[in-house]
Amino acid sequence: MQKLPSLRGAKLRGRRVFVRVDFNVPIQDGRITDDRRIRAALPTLQHLLTEGAGVVLCSHLGRPKDGQPDPKYSLAPVRAHLETLLGRPVGWIEDPTAVHPIAPGEVYLMENIRFFPGETKNDTTFAKVLAQWAEVYVCDAFGSVHRAHASVEALPRLMPEKYAGFLVEAEWENAQRVLTGIEHPYLVVVGGAKVSDKLPLLKHLLPKLDRLLIGGGMSYTFLHAQGLPMGKSLLEADQVEAARAILEEAAALGKKVLLPVDSVAATEFRADAPARVFRHDEGAFPAEYMGLDIGPETIQQARTFISGARTILWNGPMGVFEWEKFRTGTVKVAAYLAEETQKGAHTLVGGGDTASAAEVAGVVDKLSFVSTGGGALLELLAGQTLPGIAALLS
Ligand code: AMP
Repeated sequence: MQKLPSLRGAKLRGRRVFVRVDFNVPIQDGRITDDRRIRAALPTLQHLLTEGAGVVLCSHLGRPKDGQPDPKYSLAPVRAHLETLLGRPVGWIEDPTAVHPIAPGEVYLMENIRFFPGETKNDTTFAKVLAQWAEVYVCDAFGSVHRAHASVEALPRLMPEKYAGFLVEAEWENAQRVLTGIEHPYLVVVGGAKVSDKLPLLKHLLPKLDRLLIGGGMSYTFLHAQGLPMGKSLLEADQVEAARAILEEAAALGKKVLLPVDSVAATEFRADAPARVFRHDEGAFPAEYMGLDIGPETIQQARTFISGARTILWNGPMGVFEWEKFRTGTVKVAAYLAEETQKGAHTLVGGGDTASAAEVAGVVDKLSFVSTGGGALLELLAGQTLPGIAALLS
């Protein structure tokens, strides 16, 4: 397994450290509604402070237009929340180009780095200015490592000393266990809305995995590709060929694939729509219904399918888990994955929605690792090189 340069053992006393974090959290009316990404960076921050470093934190928030300041995307609420979490004052850097000294034990947070056009352009001149803040660079922004942006890519390439923070290190090592250090049988569970999002991952992992469970909205494009009825369930018409190709390749490679044999369906996409179970056999699934969860027979088959796996990747819910009526499939599958994990399987859960699904199912603590990365994890699992990781290794 390729190792990232680790912060453990780095000399930090009296040194200034620039930390790229991912504090891109949801904020409503100035209030942070989910602070998981901030809390995920705390072990690194606490380590740096305990070791006697001075810290400058840098993050983006949302997508401000044209690299211009927009109060809607200010990191000011994050600074206040971070002060509470750390139990110490956090200084504010309104303008990251106005470099000033940082003393040991001090923590500063920069304003949203995307307020500066050099960031998304991966501009070297801008990165050179950022480099003046510190002598050590730490990347703990796993959610951003797939972006070739100045604070993620150009900057670490300029820095003589750079490390992965504890979050990035853990994310990397957990991802490697489902990519290279695989213990078989290897089960991949995919679901959620879109085939197109998961296709690169499916293509890359198909030769490595042993069993593939496809549920959720994306499974109906696969059923359609097999000529099975799925009514007005989600269909990505431009992905039907790709879905067929995946199924053909899986068959050629001798991989086991489980698709829904039945669904909990409704005639309308509504939380309280009357629900009925239909099978996907020829003539069995009515044209006016849409599948919103995997059905009881599929759940039963999933249990056997999941049993005995040693390595598990779960990405995407089995249905519209946000609605109580359509969450049984996701909750049950999550429980089976948790059971296998308790028996010793290594289970990585990825993607924002899947993390929420794991929370709804009450199994977060029973799975090996819940990733904080959405797009970054998907790209890593698709075998792509991530600019922020490549820069750390440069
Ligand atoms: P993704 O971001 O692709 O993992 O998709 C997650 C979303 O897919 C969740 O918000 C689910 O509500 C939605 N989803 C899962 N199954 C279905 C389905 N059968 N029909 C419509 N949406 C679904």
